[in-house]
Amino acid sequence: MREIGHFIGGKHVAGTSGRTSNVYNPATGEVQATVALADVADIRAAVENAKAAQPKWAATNPQRRARVFFKFVELLNQHMDELATMLSREHGKTVEDSKGDVIRGLEVCEFVCGIPHLQKGEFTEGAGPAIDMYSIRQPVGVGAGITPFNFPAMIPMWMFAPAIACGNAFILKPSERDPSVPIRLAELMIEAGLPAGILNVVNGDKAAVDAILTDPDIAAVSFVGSTPIARYVYGTAAMNGKRAQCFGGAKNHMIIMPDADMDQAVNALMGAGYGSAGERCMAISVAVPVGEDTANRLVDRLVPKIESLRIGPYTDDKADMGPLVTKDAYNRVNSLIDRGVDEGAKLVVDGRGFKLQGYEDGYFVGGSLFDHVKPDMDIYKTEIFGPVLSVVRAKNYEEALDLPMKHEYGNGVAIYTRDGDAARDFASRINIGMIGVNVPIPVPLAYHSFGGWKSSSFGDLNQHGTDSIKFWTRTKTITARWPSGIKDGAEFVMPTMK
Ligand code: NAD
Repeated sequence: MREIGHFIGGKHVAGTSGRTSNVYNPATGEVQATVALADVADIRAAVENAKAAQPKWAATNPQRRARVFFKFVELLNQHMDELATMLSREHGKTVEDSKGDVIRGLEVCEFVCGIPHLQKGEFTEGAGPAIDMYSIRQPVGVGAGITPFNFPAMIPMWMFAPAIACGNAFILKPSERDPSVPIRLAELMIEAGLPAGILNVVNGDKAAVDAILTDPDIAAVSFVGSTPIARYVYGTAAMNGKRAQCFGGAKNHMIIMPDADMDQAVNALMGAGYGSAGERCMAISVAVPVGEDTANRLVDRLVPKIESLRIGPYTDDKADMGPLVTKDAYNRVNSLIDRGVDEGAKLVVDGRGFKLQGYEDGYFVGGSLFDHVKPDMDIYKTEIFGPVLSVVRAKNYEEALDLPMKHEYGNGVAIYTRDGDAARDFASRINIGMIGVNVPIPVPLAYHSFGGWKSSSFGDLNQHGTDSIKFWTRTKTITARWPSGIKDGAEFVMPTMK
């Protein structure tokens, strides 16, 4: 059995805790590896390596830091098939979808190739008599990232690329469910020229996370995962004096106005609802058609498409979606479908009991569709994180707008319409972080920033874009006066520009 350890100080090391967890092939249910679960000693070893390596890296000029990322991007492209297949084997999503996971991370690495410009400070000449004032952005020191299972390439790169480009050392604690790609990324960073100790990968569960949150030498923590853990990580990190940005779960709505192009809306819902088996934080899980006629036309067109979804293992290059990540996820999604039926929603397409010949022990759930879902139902309130779409019928635009406005989560939302006035009103009034106008999954590109509102995000700076440079640096402001501008005698009053 393959044993996955940690990557500390530029080397593969075995865990010291004696605890491990299984890594499954979700398509077959077989255990394909074990992964070490770190305790405090493993995190400490990573922090010591990071601390020792960081000052020299921070003192490396930004063009040289950027060059590591230029090379890394090249290596990612060269190793794209290998990375995508490795990712699919543990996550279950199709290989093409995994390439998207790698490419969206790669784009953040391309963005940070501009670090000499991005990290530049500000300068004011003559802020006072012979006084110049300037602000510089210095790295925070040692940062850490805790990532979820659903994007094991993109989300680690969201975090380590800007952190490292800014001159920090980094400790990545990836999901224990699909740990191989993060370790491979760290190997490739070394091949790209990164000094040992700047990027460390420590595998683990809650014990590793708690060791990160209480370690006095870790200055900043970035987290992406479910909302209860995001809230916990944010609170604990802040209590321990750390800067934190924590991103949580979602329930993304798509409003379909009566004037929308119905074919486009249906295709968008298919991809956004069932791609990656619904295991995306920006997946659409609620469709809100406006008016009965829109709702009937929508459901009539969705049903045959959902029934003919091609579901398969990652080795099937024609599959639309794969299995869920673990048996627990499979059981959870099935029981939420049961719950929806008990609550009185109409299960129009039932994906429970879906079996794929030759893969009977895989964690496959068929595409499912609920109609006539009401806002007080658990299946509406809960993030299902599976291939289950709920239709909530709204009488008019205001009623449709009210649904995502009142929902606990605020990650993404979309509106399908030809009416620019309605789209503008929607984008302006909605209390959600990322909005799509005729775009079902409005994940911003690397040079803008990613982040939700409400219970989808804790902290005030987003992932990537210029926010990430702010998050991974501290501002220092210097006020300088040369002797020619200094008056004789002591001044006892507060200096002002009076
Ligand atoms: P998760 O919360 O179970 O795990 C995330 C990380 O936290 C993992 O590294 C895990 O090891 C760790 N963890 C788990 N339990 C912990 C505990 N009790 N204490 C401390 N750490 C713990 O999330 P997941 O199932 O891996 O990922 C799916 C979730 O992530 C969904 O809710 C999804 O919406 C969310 N997500 C959000 C975004 C976003 O940007 N908002 C992006 C991707 C995924």
